[in-house]
Amino acid sequence: MKYIPTIGLEIHAELKTTTKMFCNSKNDPDEKRPNINICPICMAHPGTLPTINKDAVKKVIQVGLAIDGTIADYSEFDRKNYFYPDIPKAYQLSQYEFPLVSGGKINGVAITRIHLEEDTARSSHTTHEDDSYVDFNRAGVPLMELVTEPEIHTAEQAGAFGRELQLLLRTLKVSDAHMQKGEMRVEVNISLSKGNQLGTKVEIKNLNSFRAVERSIAFEIERQTELLEKGEGIVQETRGWDENKGITFSQRVKEEAADYRYFPDPDLPKMKISEIPEFDREILLQSMPELPNAKRERLKNEFALPDGAVEIYVHDTELYDLFAGTVNEIKGDDALTGDMHKVTSLVSNYVINNVSALRQENADESEGGAGSESPVTDAIDDKEDKDVDQNTQNTADIRRITPKALKDIVLLAHSGDISSNGAVELIGLVLNGTHFDEIRTLADEKGLLQDNDEETLNALVEGILSENEDVVEEYKGGKTQLLQFLVGQGMKKSKGSANPAKIKELLIQKIG
Ligand SMILES: [Zn+2]
Repeated sequence: MKYIPTIGLEIHAELKTTTKMFCNSKNDPDEKRPNINICPICMAHPGTLPTINKDAVKKVIQVGLAIDGTIADYSEFDRKNYFYPDIPKAYQLSQYEFPLVSGGKINGVAITRIHLEEDTARSSHTTHEDDSYVDFNRAGVPLMELVTEPEIHTAEQAGAFGRELQLLLRTLKVSDAHMQKGEMRVEVNISLSKGNQLGTKVEIKNLNSFRAVERSIAFEIERQTELLEKGEGIVQETRGWDENKGITFSQRVKEEAADYRYFPDPDLPKMKISEIPEFDREILLQSMPELPNAKRERLKNEFALPDGAVEIYVHDTELYDLFAGTVNEIKGDDALTGDMHKVTSLVSNYVINNVSALRQENADESEGGAGSESPVTDAIDDKEDKDVDQNTQNTADIRRITPKALKDIVLLAHSGDISSNGAVELIGLVLNGTHFDEIRTLADEKGLLQDNDEETLNALVEGILSENEDVVEEYKGGKTQLLQFLVGQGMKKSKGSANPAKIKELLIQKIG
């Protein structure tokens, strides 16, 4: 019998608030100068009093509502006492007995709790000297901690959970949740067992991408299986992840459970959630944007899009807005009502395959490309990388293509006035900032308009047939691949301006 992995996740996410959790210092993750966003409160000077940032509380409640969790009626902050250089007060303000949210589900995985706390300062250690530095800009930034029930059983499931939570946090605008920037941090608890009794738990820390989450879990399953099969025990410990070697390594062996001597902070007011107007359930629900699962359903029903496209649009607002805006433009066009489904998928194909690819190419050029696995997750990971480094030069700007312009391009392709290659070329020109008044004029200028005129094409095809009588005979004799040669002759004769599909149609018609 194989060992069954049991995995639980603990995920921290820095909340996107203007100020810190208990003071008015700025919450700015992009501040590069150390110790700029600090004040006597977050530096724990004697005699200072913290106050609760209601926006942070509101954001955690919104996450709770979005996952169908139970919002606490009573909540408070506790002191978690420990001494470390990155924690100026010698305790962290966190929530122990009364988390803001309990229960709820994400991707079918039950959530134990979500609570609110403050982030620690950032320490850096130099390798060449003995010094350590502490930057307190991050000290006191609102931090949400989400704990799942241990009911994840595969590496992929853990990765998918993390990605779905990230999507939810971004949709709610609760956190930017960039893994590489440490705005979202995942810790994995994993044990292997054969029966109902859970095995010894190992914790994996310092995972800064979803791929690292998946790879480290896969590694641990293999490592622990090997040990168990040799009859050796698993050590309860915290392990780190070495991205380059692709292995986990022992960081510290768990001794006694630390005693944090939690007790309610006497300086902060207790919160009776239902009595605070800003936390009113109905108002919060109404202010929430469309959630990922609802959007998935709607995209499937409204546009009959395939799953792959739906996932791309749920993750990529830029592409979705262009797609939906273009379809909306077309909806006003009565002539197309009957062709709506066909045109919608045409729009979607150009957005996902071409607009996105042109944008991607530019991102890749400046970042040296990224490894490939699945197109959807890759698009998401790449986008994340791109967001991190916004200074990279991007000449193909998606904002240059309006729904109206894309509509015009798609309709020219739909009517056969331009080829599909022509449409791709036009999209490239527009994205790269080529000036134009009308798409049709631009297509004409670039020689992309195809001739569809019946009379011209008829004459053209008659000409090909009389000039290639022997080829036509061979074709009739069964060499069907010669049809393509004849179409090619037509394109040559018309200097590329004829519509090849129309030529083909006419050839078949006339040869009989
Ligand atoms: Zn402060």
